[in-house]
Amino acid sequence: MSVQTTEAIVLRSTNFAESSKIVTFYSPQFGKIKGIAKGARSAKNKFGSSLEIFSHVILVFYQKKTDIQLISQCDLKNPFLNIRNDLIRTAYASYFIELINKTTEGGAQDSEQIFSLILNALTALETANVESEVLAHFFEVRLLKILGCIPVFDRCVNCGAKITEGKFSCRLGGILNNECWGADESAFQVSLGTILTIQHLQTSDFSNLSRLKLNKLSSKELKLVLESYIKYTLVKNLKSLEFLEKITQMKVPL
Ligand SMILES: [Zn+2]
Repeated sequence: MSVQTTEAIVLRSTNFAESSKIVTFYSPQFGKIKGIAKGARSAKNKFGSSLEIFSHVILVFYQKKTDIQLISQCDLKNPFLNIRNDLIRTAYASYFIELINKTTEGGAQDSEQIFSLILNALTALETANVESEVLAHFFEVRLLKILGCIPVFDRCVNCGAKITEGKFSCRLGGILNNECWGADESAFQVSLGTILTIQHLQTSDFSNLSRLKLNKLSSKELKLVLESYIKYTLVKNLKSLEFLEKITQMKVPL
């Protein structure tokens, strides 16, 4: 059993036994870490509010060979208070966290990239310097890319030819050009503008996101393409996505 120290983001926190909590973290070095925080709900709780979801923390734990590690100390680095105090931002952050929690495992494969994606996304939500909708699509595209399951958007997935417009096929994992529409009857129409936006999101820096504006058509199509594909390949049921939908639809137009 060795003592490890790492920065981490809290993905999930549930009550356990009389006074403890089971907490799932994501870290750059170890990927997902699940641990028990003994006494985290007792009067003498040494963890404070560091175990709440979205928190950016410095975690100290005893690494054991079992699935559950023993959390020794957890210090708050950033509580992301602006996210917590805003229902819409909380809904977006919950979606990011749930996606990471459901698509990753322990172990260090790509964990640095995934950690930096989630930390950058939460920081952008906290400071609100990027439109949340743009940020969400950036997050989805980059996560798909890191996990190695990004669909083909720069050519026809069936024949490899260049595309000017097309239909998106979840089953084939990419865009079909006019000649190949028949290859998947469930494929749906996507405009060239949306295809180019997704290509841009695959390579663009965080710092350029604030300049990206989506028109109504792209906004609708991006949501349809990315959500259908994520549900098709990665996670069928995303509770946070239903919540996000409800919250954003309730939003009163300014
Ligand atoms: Zn084709």
